[in-house]
Amino acid sequence: MTTGYIFIGAPGCGKGTQTELLAKELGIPHIDTGSLLRKNIEEKTEAGLIAKEYIDKGQLVPIDVVSTVIKNRLNNADCNTGYVLDGYPRSLEQALALDKILLELKMDTNLQVFYFDIPNEVLIERLINRRSCSKCGKIYNLKTFPPKNKEVCDVCGGKLIQRKDDTKETALLRFQTYETQTKPLIEFYSNRGNLKTINANQSINEVWSNLNKLIGAKA
Ligand code: AMP
Repeated sequence: MTTGYIFIGAPGCGKGTQTELLAKELGIPHIDTGSLLRKNIEEKTEAGLIAKEYIDKGQLVPIDVVSTVIKNRLNNADCNTGYVLDGYPRSLEQALALDKILLELKMDTNLQVFYFDIPNEVLIERLINRRSCSKCGKIYNLKTFPPKNKEVCDVCGGKLIQRKDDTKETALLRFQTYETQTKPLIEFYSNRGNLKTINANQSINEVWSNLNKLIGAKA
């Protein structure tokens, strides 16, 4: 039996940071669909060309593209002991597709689902202040977790950039997408009895400590 960790939360809720920490702690892969799609865009693959159009508009990339990317990634041997999904599934349709993918790959998985609960007003502020390193991917926040120099990564010296979809306009569209398409997953996994809620309006350390307490606890 494998354990798959799923995280549901609005853009900027902090799931990227926590999922990375969790994957490192458990020694299992961190599978982030947003980064996988951005990598495809950089490499100008067919999937990347399609994805770009949707990402730039703050919309979900079509399910067939995302399913292929996820299925290929889960099919790697390093996922046999477990995996942390960051940003997937993001709609009911994707949750059902994930069930199908796991059946097809014969991955007998116990899914543990975490919902990061946080008010929208806090998130907009977080997103427009988010910067990430173009080289190593480290994430900063100009207000709450600033780098020493606002243009340079503290860790590797890479140039800090703002994601194109973190501007206020696109961020608002991403929130709408979250409300209409992703939020229904809360009820879906809650009905299955494997959803746990975390107050994400706390410091990174506090959220991490809550997450650790909830891992393995009964829903
Ligand atoms: P993220 O890095 O998780 O904020 O994702 C950035 C963008 O990538 C989203 O706004 C979507 O356009 C796209 N994306 C990421 N994950 C998915 C997914 N599971 N399904 C569809 N589109 C996705």
